[in-house]
Amino acid sequence: MDRRKGADVQFRLALDAIDQVVTYDIACEYYAKIKARFRASPDLADVAEMVDRIRWGIPALHVTGHKADCTYLFGTAYMDCVGHFHGETAEAYWPSANRIGGHARQMNNGHRQDTLIGNANDWNWKKIVKMRAFLWSMAWAQD
Ligand SMILES: [Zn+2]
Repeated sequence: MDRRKGADVQFRLALDAIDQVVTYDIACEYYAKIKARFRASPDLADVAEMVDRIRWGIPALHVTGHKADCTYLFGTAYMDCVGHFHGETAEAYWPSANRIGGHARQMNNGHRQDTLIGNANDWNWKKIVKMRAFLWSMAWAQD
């Protein structure tokens, strides 16, 4: 008997307990029959059960453009143990990326990737540096 079997079983139980919430702008449409789609695909069948356990949400700004039912079924504010988050963080970077899009489009693949990565790192750095002042101002605004 493999001496790691006990740890493997415990790890397997931990994997089952992982609660994943994924937000996607059109989650209400995308998640329908997702398990069947994944099972039918030779490249995705091995993770079909895992995908079936995901709880799907729609980011806060996008869900306002859906049917009312979507707000209650997919709005993260209505999901158990999720708390308030907008799920739109990925969107905040797009204006910065769009500014360099015209230049990056004309670059060769390597230069384009370096430029996009450098721009994303710069955007993240500036966000982190400005966060302290922003949080401080929010704390003072509470008084
Ligand atoms: Zn919807």
